[in-house]
Amino acid sequence: MARSRRTNKYQRAAQSELSDVTRLAYGGARRETRRGTEWFVRDIPAHRAEKSYRCPACGTDVPAGQAHVVAWSAEHFFGDEAAVRERRHFHAHCWRIL
Ligand SMILES: [Zn+2]
Repeated sequence: MARSRRTNKYQRAAQSELSDVTRLAYGGARRETRRGTEWFVRDIPAHRAEKSYRCPACGTDVPAGQAHVVAWSAEHFFGDEAAVRERRHFHAHCWRIL
């Protein structure tokens, strides 16, 4: 689908200055496929969960202090930085069964 629009790794390597957002994107995130879309995924441990978020999968809160998953599209039309800015926080369980 949007695959052809994705920045490839050669284009990424050509970016000499990486923002913090981009570093987040490539600083240890893994790639997973959900519902036919590729996502970057990171586990947020309990001690790093400083705010509560609304889980987009079930519509209830992910309370502060609860380990969870943050995910963003690997196929965002406007690239990885835009995708990271639109990252979503999921309950670990909700992400697993998504
Ligand atoms: Zn949830």
